This record gives sequence, C-alpha cells and structure tokens, in this order.
Amino acid sequence: MTDAATVLITDDSLVVRAVVRAHLETAGHRVVEAEDGEDAIAQCHESPPDVILLDIEMPGLDGYEVLAELKSDVELRDVPVVFLTDRTSMDDVLAGLRGGAHDYLKKPFEPAELVARVTAALNVKKLQDQLRERNADLDRLSRTDVLTGLRNRRHLEEELVRHHDEARRHHDQLCLLLLDIDHFKRVNDTYGHPAGDVVLAEFAQLLRDGLRVGDIPGRWGGEEFLVVLPRTGRDGAMQVAERIRLSTAGASITAEGQHVAITVSGGCAVGPVSSADDLVRAADTLLYAAKAGGRNRILATAPPAGSQTTVLPLLPDVR
Ligand code: GH3
Ligand code: MG
Ligand code: MG
Ligand code: MG
Repeated sequence: MTDAATVLITDDSLVVRAVVRAHLETAGHRVVEAEDGEDAIAQCHESPPDVILLDIEMPGLDGYEVLAELKSDVELRDVPVVFLTDRTSMDDVLAGLRGGAHDYLKKPFEPAELVARVTAALNVKKLQDQLRERNADLDRLSRTDVLTGLRNRRHLEEELVRHHDEARRHHDQLCLLLLDIDHFKRVNDTYGHPAGDVVLAEFAQLLRDGLRVGDIPGRWGGEEFLVVLPRTGRDGAMQVAERIRLSTAGASITAEGQHVAITVSGGCAVGPVSSADDLVRAADTLLYAAKAGGRNRILATAPPAGSQTTVLPLLPDVR
C-alpha cells in the first residue's frame, strides 16, 4: 500500500482518533495521528501528509492557530485541511473556511461522509500536485532552447540581472561572455541548414564541457551564445573563454555525414558595471572588435590601468 494517501488526524481525543483511523483505513488510506496542534505541525514538517483532519478545541494550540501556522509555511500551505469538530456555529464554520480550511465536518460524523470528504480533499490535492508539476515542466520548457537543450535568452536575461545585481551588492566580480560562431552562414550554405543545426548542438556541448559548475550558459539567439560567469574576474573568465575557443577550433564535428570545421569569436565583458544591459553592450562591442580583428579570438575588457594581471600564455591554435 505504498501509494496510499496519508491522512493526519489531529485530535486530543484518543477515541475520535481511533474511530477515524478505523474508517479511513477501511477505505484504503494510511492514517497517522497527532494528539495536539504542536504534534501535528511537527509531524507535517517531518513528512507532509496528503490531507489533515483537524480538531478545533485542543490543549495548547487550537485548530485555527494550527491552520494559520500551516498556511504561513510554503511547504505545507497546499495540504488540504478538513476541520472535524463539534463547534458547529456558522461563525465557527466561516472562521475555519476563511482561514483557508478546505472543508468542515461536524461531530458526530457519518462514516460515509467522513470518507467522502477526505476522498474529495485528496482528489483536490492530487490535482494541485499535478498542476504544480506541469507548471514546473512548462517553466523549464519556456526557458530551454529546443535545438541545443541549453537555457534560452529569456532565462539568461533573468539570471544575468540577478547575478549582476548580486555582484554589485556584494562588491563581487562577474563576467559575461558573448560567443558567436564565425562565418556560420557559410556552414549553412556549404553543408545545408540541417547540418548547421547539428553544428549548433555540437557547439553547445563543447560549451557545456568547457564550463565550470556555477557558470550559466545559454543560447542568446541564432549562432550566438552567452555565458554568465558569477564570482569571476577577468583572468578566470579569459581562461574559460580561451578553453572554449581552442576546443571549438580543434573539434572534429560530423554533421549529416560531413566533417565541419568551425571557429568562434567572443567578447568578454568584466563587471559589474552600471547595469546588466550595459554589460551585454560591452560584450557585444568586444565581440564586434574580435570579428573585425580577424575572428577566432576573444577580446576582454581592458584591465584597469596599473593593475597586476596575469598575462595569459599565447596558446597555439589547434588547427
Ligand atoms: P560572422 O563570422 O560575422 O558571425 O558571420 P556569420 O555568417 O556567422 O554571421 P551572420 O549573422 O551573417 O549569419 C548567421 C547565420 O546563422 C545566418 C543564419 O541563417 C544562421 N542561423 C541562425 N540560427 C540558425 C539555426 O537555428 N540553425 C541554422 N542551421 N542556422 C542558423
Ligand atoms: Mg478536542
Ligand atoms: Mg551572429
Ligand atoms: Mg556568426
């Protein structure tokens, strides 16, 4: 019965707990018990149930207080709560429902009604869970580039702003690498558009392989890729960039049965600067200069005058 839904019955009366347990277990549910509000909250934190049956009058926290506590917790706020109580005035019922209770059942209860209401609450929970999962899937999809499997521009823009603001706040460094495959139009013209697609996917893999944990790569658009490098200074970013440039130039890519050689150019902008947009503009300007300078090269923001920077060894081209 591992798939059985778990119902937490919270009541200070042992008799009520035993009767409820018997009915729900007969209906195929797994039942756990809490003898007061604090016990219920502790058990919810330990292992959230699928439905909570909640008495109102209990020693310590009363049912309304337990409900308020559950609703204030992001992990627990969606677990449906069904009040099971002998407080039956309309004010009590309304107070419970206004506090976020899913349903209200009066003692003494009809066993069949108890089972029916718990089942209804469980169905709502199941639908909510499915909806949440589906939303998470959609969110992931809406941030993923289909061709390369990398994150897309939408995701990159959000991540960039977040990391850029964080870097400014913490007086940290971050770099932005904008990469553009050289003469990619020729690849399409020579080998065909489908081969071009394969090359883009292969380049995405080279990019992943060349990055470190924490770096955020994505497809910026067309044959342009962007990498956010949080907590990274100019030297660190250029090491990463050169590694990618060299592995690209040295890669043996087979697309549609043909060998395709590519190179990549890039702009490496060192930040933070005044805004994330300005950092992208700086990387774009550097990329443009790298193209103008002959391609297959990465240009970075000039180091501040008088600063001690490590001079990167001039690595040979693999090809
Ligand atoms: P440069 O070195 O100056 O960057 O030259 P380039 O040819 O790479 O640049 P250009 O902007 O002239 O051409 C980019 C090409 O990339 C044209 C476009 O058709 C192609 N492209 C963009 N997106 C895709 C895609 O998803 N698949 C394929 N196969 N080609 C694409
Ligand atoms: Mg009670
Ligand atoms: Mg381009
Ligand atoms: Mg290009």
